[in-house]
Amino acid sequence: MADPTTIPPRSGAAFTLDRGQMLTVIDPEGRQVSDLLAFARDDLREVISSGRTLDYANRIYLTTGDRLYSNRSNVMLEIVEDRVGRHDFLLTPCSKDTFRIIYGDTDPHRGCFGNLAAALEPYGVEPDAIPVAFNCFMNVPVDGATGKLSVLPPISKAGDSITFRAAMDLVIGLTACSAPASNGGSFKPIEYRVEAA
Ligand SMILES: [Zn+2]
Repeated sequence: MADPTTIPPRSGAAFTLDRGQMLTVIDPEGRQVSDLLAFARDDLREVISSGRTLDYANRIYLTTGDRLYSNRSNVMLEIVEDRVGRHDFLLTPCSKDTFRIIYGDTDPHRGCFGNLAAALEPYGVEPDAIPVAFNCFMNVPVDGATGKLSVLPPISKAGDSITFRAAMDLVIGLTACSAPASNGGSFKPIEYRVEAA
């Protein structure tokens, strides 16, 4: 098996994924979130869609067997293995404004949003095209009665992973998340591996 590629703490990467290829996102140290974005390679205006996906799944927690749909209701990715079972698909990538508004930072980090925008820029993706990410390992329980969200540390342990199969040719954006609350208060790397079907 090929060695995984490392995304250093509080940074991001972008790469292509061919139809049929498998992408495994690994949490090497545990309790670390990774935001995942997908764009159709032959038309970047087709993007991963939280709204479509959650609508069709009828659930907000997705796992093995679930499909991640685009804004055009095409399947982009299928979850084929999930060793954690808790991910988030409600919240946008953390950003300068997240840190300003929620944390009160005066000199905020650019966050996953800035890291994704920089990594995806060479592929022709503009910042305004960045949608809600599939947040691997992010733990956001919801109070069923009030709808109140909590951002808790991930339940992922060192070496845990989630694997996706690409259903079309994609450009992928992936981060090691920069938000303190999402990651149990410390910033760790993320690893990923791309394999043939
Ligand atoms: Zn983040």
